[in-house]
Amino acid sequence: MKRTTTAKAVNISARLKGLLPREVIRLFKLIDRIAQQNSCAVFLVGGLIRDILLGVRNLDLDILVEGDTPRLVKALVKEARGSYVLHKRFGTAVVTLPWPVRFKSTRLANAKIDFATARKEIYKSPAALPEVAFSTVREDLSRRDFTINAMAASLMHKNFGQLIDFFNGRSDLAGKKIRILHDKSFLDDPTRIFRAVRFEQRFNFKIEPHTERLIKEALKGKMIERTSKARLKDELILILKEKDPGKALSRMENLIDFGFIHPKIHFTKGQEQLFSSISKTVAWFKSVCEGKTTDIWLVYMMALLGDLDMSTLENVCREFAFTKTERTRLCSYRKNNLEVAKFLGRSKRLSPSEIFRQLKPLSDEAILCIVAGSNSKYIKRRIANFLLKYNKVSLKISGKDLAGLGLKAGPEFKKILTAALYAKLDTGFRHKKQELDFIKRFSAGHK
Ligand code: ATP
Repeated sequence: MKRTTTAKAVNISARLKGLLPREVIRLFKLIDRIAQQNSCAVFLVGGLIRDILLGVRNLDLDILVEGDTPRLVKALVKEARGSYVLHKRFGTAVVTLPWPVRFKSTRLANAKIDFATARKEIYKSPAALPEVAFSTVREDLSRRDFTINAMAASLMHKNFGQLIDFFNGRSDLAGKKIRILHDKSFLDDPTRIFRAVRFEQRFNFKIEPHTERLIKEALKGKMIERTSKARLKDELILILKEKDPGKALSRMENLIDFGFIHPKIHFTKGQEQLFSSISKTVAWFKSVCEGKTTDIWLVYMMALLGDLDMSTLENVCREFAFTKTERTRLCSYRKNNLEVAKFLGRSKRLSPSEIFRQLKPLSDEAILCIVAGSNSKYIKRRIANFLLKYNKVSLKISGKDLAGLGLKAGPEFKKILTAALYAKLDTGFRHKKQELDFIKRFSAGHK
């Protein structure tokens, strides 16, 4: 079902200028000048065009080149004093320019731009990684996933902002439809099934009936099972990074189901509620703990995989190629969450150091998943105290001070400092002298 109509002469330069920072428009002009000097044609492509047409700000600069990308990139970097990483085989490059760009009131230190040479891809067998050959913008766009993602806009002076829309992406945006470009799309790349759900739920669009039928055929043909688990995990992570992943997971439960991870995984009503609670907890966490680098998608992943028994979880982590840190965090949550929740949910008084000892070994992600999964006011209050107060307490003394007191360096130091920290949490020492006095008493008592 090819819908390759001729491009209508629509120009989006006013929208580009309205939605992108001035520095970026200046950057486009520079790229065009250097492209001309190197006989290249340059286009803006992908998600940014879709978002610009939706009136959504996006600063993912993907530039498609007809011509010699390495030559263009090297000349650009020389003139703008930036740096680049080139992947010759794929004809792609990432350029970083030391240009401060103001975006959504944030000042970005660098402008990062992805360059790709227009290419076509040949899929030798279904679900395999494609072979790459260089080609034209039209062929490049025709290998993309959905009509709404298969538009480009010229960056060239002579027709800046002219929309290239061979597949009626603009009309599908207006009709809120997710539509593939050809009937073999999901056989070529089954991860597009996940992408279809992600974009559908993000924009409140609908996967159009023919596309949905093709998804179901691909699922019947076991295309997901034939796809690398690492790629499936990457797509699932992208879904979990969406603003409201619960919606997309409900849709996945109905359309795809989670048997591809493990037959025991279902996105139940209970999990839907847990996801919604995680989303509120995360919003609270971000407002009170600014600047923390927490992997929010991992909190959702803990919730999704949390009911698997330990050895199944370990197998899933291995099969889906989670990194060592991710694996450790997922397994540690699974191992400890019930016990920690039981301990913290008790009405009996708990000292700050008792709470600290329970929570300190856990990742922030696990702590957020525990608090989101609980209705207990004790757990909520104790976890809030840990994150906002106890976890910020540190000693004024160090190993040097212990040596100064004549104590011998060694493993004992850590034990003494930990005891001092617990005492500080429980009694609230304010001065260094109080810490030193505690250490003197503590080490005298342990001689
Ligand atoms: P987001 O807003 O989530 O970043 P995006 O559309 O920018 O979405 P990317 O994953 O960054 O998505 O990909 C950039 C572009 O590359 C897409 O717009 C699409 O045209 C193309 N693309 C990405 N993945 C695929 C795929 N699996 N099959 C075909 N085209 C793809």
